[in-house]
Amino acid sequence: MKMIELASGTSVWRGMDYYESKKVTDWTEISPTIYEGHVQGSAFEPYTVRIDTVHPRRSVCNCAFAAGRHVICKHMIALYFTAVPQAVQDFEDMVKQWEKEQEEQQQKHLAELRAYVRSLSKKELQEQLYNALLEIKDLNQRRW
Ligand SMILES: [Zn+2]
Repeated sequence: MKMIELASGTSVWRGMDYYESKKVTDWTEISPTIYEGHVQGSAFEPYTVRIDTVHPRRSVCNCAFAAGRHVICKHMIALYFTAVPQAVQDFEDMVKQWEKEQEEQQQKHLAELRAYVRSLSKKELQEQLYNALLEIKDLNQRRW
């Protein structure tokens, strides 16, 4: 999963798109952790990509984003997902886990909000409601 962790979110999602639309035209396993292949990008010629899944920064691609830099591009991610099916599974599990945590956070936040509202006196509630209505009105005015 190092490849994913070192890539930007944009590269990961664009790489996933490339993987799903089968933009990796061919690939070879050089060793169990090194793969080479070609990825059809926006240019006419496919990009030549080499990934090292243990040392991701040694990966290379001749696209404008990655050429001469030690960054992970969407073509590397596309090759990674294509050559290592387990990586797709791990990534999907990670996203599910993240969504579950987000959901739990949200539930916790709502419970805290409910508890807070219940702890207020009538006078405090009236004041808070008045402030909230003013804020809503203010937001609406800004929108138009
Ligand atoms: Zn690239």
